[in-house]
Amino acid sequence: MRPIKSEGFVLKKVNFRETSVILTLFTKELGKIKGILKGVRKEKSKISPLTFTQGSYIFILIYKKKSELNLLSSPELIYFPDFENKICFKIYITILNLIYLFLPEFQREENIFFLIYKSANLLQKSKKPHIIFLGFKIKFIEILGYGIKIDEPCKCGKRKNLNFFSPKAGGLVCKNCGIKEADCVKISKKEISIIKFIKKTDLDNIEVLNIKKKETERINYLCNLVLYYHSSLNFIWWQNEKDIF
Ligand SMILES: [Zn+2]
Repeated sequence: MRPIKSEGFVLKKVNFRETSVILTLFTKELGKIKGILKGVRKEKSKISPLTFTQGSYIFILIYKKKSELNLLSSPELIYFPDFENKICFKIYITILNLIYLFLPEFQREENIFFLIYKSANLLQKSKKPHIIFLGFKIKFIEILGYGIKIDEPCKCGKRKNLNFFSPKAGGLVCKNCGIKEADCVKISKKEISIIKFIKKTDLDNIEVLNIKKKETERINYLCNLVLYYHSSLNFIWWQNEKDIF
């Protein structure tokens, strides 16, 4: 069987037996894939451990298997992003963890691939990494199809005074509909206009946004409510992001 030549981000690494690792990668060609890379933890291995560390961007050969584990070989490190500070690194790892959690295997998603690629590049020189993170989050939710809808009428048909946010709908609802849903929260006009701006702006230009960290944190919280609604994770998991803001 011929291998597929690929490039991708290491989303997760788990040591396997004495000398192998199981890697989950996000590749441009195949989306998320999981495979075993044999013998790389041998003492005399010529492959640097950085090559199979979470966060590395690598070249790899993939032999697709019918079983869950594919076979990986010939890894080469292309780069590991060089971050100026711990927060940028933390955001990068959080992004990789979100991709790991929310994407199914073998679903080619070039949009997601370029979103990670761009975020990794921008985070290396960003003065406002929390805004890059929020931009990533909103665009990620859009690609997954969970929201965030702010130009649509409420499910009851109302178009005005939509000042509640529904994680289930992934968008705005009126007060009447909002109070019927347990996890709906209030949303301000300013928050709505910030989300609008981020949705229509490319990640490269998003740092022109001049908003307080608290506002970024609040909108990130709304994003997390949407992701939480679509996942089986405990809400405590989202508290990990606290020190980003
Ligand atoms: Zn309504």
